[in-house]
Amino acid sequence: MSSTTSPIVSLHGVGKSFPNGVAALRDASFSVHEHEFVSLLGPSGCGKSTALRILAGLMEPSDGDVIWRGGAAPDGSKGEIGFVFQEPTLMPWASVARNVYLPLKLAGVTRADALPRIREALARVGLEAFEKAFPRELSGGMKMRVSIARALVTNPKLLLMDEPFAALDEITRFRLNNDLLSLWAAMRQTAIFVTHSVFESVYLSSRIIVMTSRPGRVHAEITVDAPYPRSEAFRTSPEYAALCRTVSKALVDAMAQGEAA
Ligand code: ADP
Repeated sequence: MSSTTSPIVSLHGVGKSFPNGVAALRDASFSVHEHEFVSLLGPSGCGKSTALRILAGLMEPSDGDVIWRGGAAPDGSKGEIGFVFQEPTLMPWASVARNVYLPLKLAGVTRADALPRIREALARVGLEAFEKAFPRELSGGMKMRVSIARALVTNPKLLLMDEPFAALDEITRFRLNNDLLSLWAAMRQTAIFVTHSVFESVYLSSRIIVMTSRPGRVHAEITVDAPYPRSEAFRTSPEYAALCRTVSKALVDAMAQGEAA
């Protein structure tokens, strides 16, 4: 991706230790540029979620700096960041539309003003017919779509995703991977995606940041040059297989590092 533009965010020597003594990150440094799709790839427990939470402003680093372009971090309470968690985390007592409304409500938007935006977000994830449904009536993949609609409804510049598809079956995951790429291409956010799947990271990303075992730091950065839009033709191509081999090798090397290796 273009390194001529200044990054929208850079981590410089970021460390994070918890009160129980666990060091999740140590000396982690990387940058993300506008409109990139960056994956943080690493073994479970290497600090990927911790890095994402620091970027979201949900957690402070213990060491190092997070530098945002323009000096100010995006404001989650104003809907400038969309966050998709591992679980869809929907309110079970509220309809799909009310779940998607939540970030707009928190930003002070009235329900009447929000309604067209809620409908647009649901249409983007193919759930326009389900605004009155309740979470219990939806499949796992549909719940995750609602969660993505909720993250997108404020039209955030930055979309942070923490292993959103890990709990889904492979067919559903492939479909949501494709839908996510279409959304990203249409909405032009900057996306940071946490995963421990080599295959998913290669399919989705313009760049992959491979992290070591805990305490996590950056072991390698791999650019995925394949053009977008990507489709099943890419997923079954020799180029994809070769990239997966390169990234797998980097991951194996990364896992041999860190104290928790
Ligand atoms: P990943 O997303 O790569 O699986 P995490 O960032 O969730 O890893 O966690 C990194 C390490 O930090 C893990 O060992 C985890 O148990 C620990 N950890 C995460 N959050 C906390 C916390 N609030 N208190 C103590 N330890 C934590």
